[in-house]
Amino acid sequence: MTNPPDAALELLRKVYGYPEFRGQQAEIIAHVTAGKNAFVLMPTGGGKSLCYQIPSLLRPGVGVIISPLIALMQDQVDALTQLGLRAAAINSAMAPGDVAQTKRRIREGALDLVYVAPERLLMDEFLALLRESPLALFAIDEAHCVSQWGHDFRPHYTQLSLLAEQFPHVPRVALTATADGPTRKDIVERLHLTDGRTFVAGFDRPNIRYAIVEKNEPRQQLLRFIRESHPRDCGIVYCLSRKSVDETAQWLGTQGCTALPYHAGMAAEDRARNQERFLRDDNTIMVATIAFGMGIDKPDVRFVVHLNIPRNIEAYYQETGRAGRDGLPANALLLYSLQDAVQQRRFIDEGDAPEAQKRIEHQKLNALLGLCESAVCRRQVLLEYFGDASTPCGNCDTCLEPPLTFDATVAAQKAISCSYRTGERFGVGYLVDVLLGEPDERITSFGHDQISTYGIGKELGRIEWQSLYRQLVALHLLTPDGEYGGLRITPQGLAFLKSKAPLHLRQHKARPVSRRRDRQRTAAGSAIEVENNPDHALFAAMKAKRLQLARAQNVPPYVIFHGRVLLELAARKPATLSALGQISGIGQSKLERYGAAFLAVIGNHETDQLLAEAGSDLVGD
Ligand code: ADP
Ligand code: ZN
Repeated sequence: MTNPPDAALELLRKVYGYPEFRGQQAEIIAHVTAGKNAFVLMPTGGGKSLCYQIPSLLRPGVGVIISPLIALMQDQVDALTQLGLRAAAINSAMAPGDVAQTKRRIREGALDLVYVAPERLLMDEFLALLRESPLALFAIDEAHCVSQWGHDFRPHYTQLSLLAEQFPHVPRVALTATADGPTRKDIVERLHLTDGRTFVAGFDRPNIRYAIVEKNEPRQQLLRFIRESHPRDCGIVYCLSRKSVDETAQWLGTQGCTALPYHAGMAAEDRARNQERFLRDDNTIMVATIAFGMGIDKPDVRFVVHLNIPRNIEAYYQETGRAGRDGLPANALLLYSLQDAVQQRRFIDEGDAPEAQKRIEHQKLNALLGLCESAVCRRQVLLEYFGDASTPCGNCDTCLEPPLTFDATVAAQKAISCSYRTGERFGVGYLVDVLLGEPDERITSFGHDQISTYGIGKELGRIEWQSLYRQLVALHLLTPDGEYGGLRITPQGLAFLKSKAPLHLRQHKARPVSRRRDRQRTAAGSAIEVENNPDHALFAAMKAKRLQLARAQNVPPYVIFHGRVLLELAARKPATLSALGQISGIGQSKLERYGAAFLAVIGNHETDQLLAEAGSDLVGD
């Protein structure tokens, strides 16, 4: 038998066309190929799939991949088929004949990989089939679904513990991109991985640029962002409600964007159609609730915008993590307001989780607000949350344009006492009116024009006070309470008032981030083109060729070649098949299938250029 690592490397080069393993891939693959259990925690885009695909190829029998979303299995199967591998999915959406055939192939060991949902896997009949089939391994994808501490608990996943009992000799590898400490522990215990190894890669996604800005005119902020930074790109815009999904998608359409809605209130066919278009087009924007995205592994999503704050940092990190899986530059923009925080608190309070769970959720929301108001590097805050130490990243809004801070001690005291004097039951709008001494009927009717904080805040404007209140909430000195988000003083807030400790806060900034830089981009095209500077016409011609090949086979374009491959082709312009095969991401199967077609595109492009130059020479004569 060959030494697994060498055999693995050979497969990586031949099948996938990649020159080297990344990070811990080689180690994980050697471990699993040797038949041992593993828990793999790696960020999105880190290359988790190879960690079970290559061992499935190296070990005898079929690799069984358990994945929660049947809607996306087919794309994964298509991608593997393009690589020349024998892959299939098995699910309830398939015709009975196809199911029977796939089962036969499993039994005969005639597949490299098979994808199943946990519901299917757990059927007695299916388990019986597996018991009489040669199995290479079980891969449990999105393993955080096993845990109640995770943010996407799925009851079926907990039953996967039976794999250890019924198939003690088949190695199990559980993979996820998001799991905090308790979730990790839960996964390892529930899936009986205690005898295996845990591989934790850093959480960082260095190619994603994080920006969090105050929401003032969300539609205009969104449109400006798309026009300036991503005029021709694919992206996801997250909204809180179905209604705002529909309205935003429609409005973007009137502004000349290709935008599609996606939410759980739509008919299943409409949702599936929109998802399909998003996966298959090059420049479509998906406007969605969080119902959209799990398991979406479209590599070229260039931006993720949140029009409302998400529930917590895990959710935010996972949702933004859908951008830039291909490693090319991507943007994550979050617009936030205190109203959103109030609403999220209400969702938690009104939910039917037990009190202890609600407390955890409130704390998680506080951590998110802290991130929003942070004056230090966003990435540092994010990574620290997941337990990774890091240094300022240079690729987030606070690094690129460090916020100014000011001594807010006195202002914060005024703001907090204003809440106290009015009975801790009013929201920001009202409190600011009182501080500014607005002549307002409501204020007079409550007698609040008579209290000591009435009109004592004229040194700051309305927007500055709003920003200050948000930061006090983020620091948990005040907390929104009750149905209308009246601000209550927390024990920490009381301690602050008593101690009179100095407090520095970030100064309100009127302008959004790095607009100048983004403007420059627009002139030349989408962000990745500007960063990589390929031959633009050739890049466009190759994208067109890719789309044509993809449509003919009804598969997503990135399944043919990733954007990164096209960029490299457009930069290097290989003239022979063997030179083309040297490009990272072009393995043997794809070279045979598409090499000639892309060589022709490059060749024609060169000829066009020569002719054009000759033409202009003639004109010059
Ligand atoms: P994850 O499942 O962790 O989000 P994927 O397995 O989808 O990530 O991998 C992300 C991208 O990186 C894919 O396009 C994959 O082909 C690519 N990739 C994985 N491993 C390597 C490697 N060793 N070298 C180059 N590209 C890789
Ligand atoms: Zn930073």
